[in-house]
Amino acid sequence: MTRSKFFLTLLAMVAISPSIALQAAHCDKLKDDWHSLQKANKSFISNPKYEQQRSQTAREQNPTYVVLSCADSRTPPEIIFNQGLGRIFCPRVAGNTAGDQVIDSIAFAVNTWDVTTVVVMGHENCGAVVGALERLRHNKGKVDRPDGIFNAVLIPIEKAIVKAGIDIYGRHALEKSIEANVAYVAKRLIKKSSIIAEALEKGRITIVGSVYHLESGQAKELFILDKCSSKIHLH
Ligand SMILES: [Zn+2]
Repeated sequence: MTRSKFFLTLLAMVAISPSIALQAAHCDKLKDDWHSLQKANKSFISNPKYEQQRSQTAREQNPTYVVLSCADSRTPPEIIFNQGLGRIFCPRVAGNTAGDQVIDSIAFAVNTWDVTTVVVMGHENCGAVVGALERLRHNKGKVDRPDGIFNAVLIPIEKAIVKAGIDIYGRHALEKSIEANVAYVAKRLIKKSSIIAEALEKGRITIVGSVYHLESGQAKELFILDKCSSKIHLH
């Protein structure tokens, strides 16, 4: 190698090496994160409380509760309601929306087990509702066109906000939209599933609307739908 070629090669190596180093560090972090989860799983396995719960529920489950909550990392129903394994049937999806899979999952739970309480739980500062509101503002109050991104999550929330007649530019628009989305989803469960509607009609289940408060930890009650209620009351 000539002297000039050597220096050129050295220069190229110096220029490239930070990105290679960064890439390697990133790969290490990915592996470390998975290993951390595996380690946490080992402590779950050896925790006597969960060992007992697993042996009690391994053969079959019979959850009393269904909680439809947001996929947000701060809103796990099992922790919020202090329930162990086998107690909560828990479909979770960004914005706690009720698409076909969620509706069928809940209907299956109501049809199969001794579920008494179906909770639709929104939460403060929900990113999905923020996104839906922002898009509505951008589109001057019109529900987004079908080719927009994140439609499966955002469009149902946009519809809930528009249907509730919320002033999207007004004060507390986000809080009102979060509540409207919970009510919209609860109504949708009844409208789209004859199993859920019938269980409610026969007094087998109640449907509760709730909003979870991130800092206080309170799951505030918005409404309860039961056999005696003819329509949703928000309070
Ligand atoms: Zn959320």
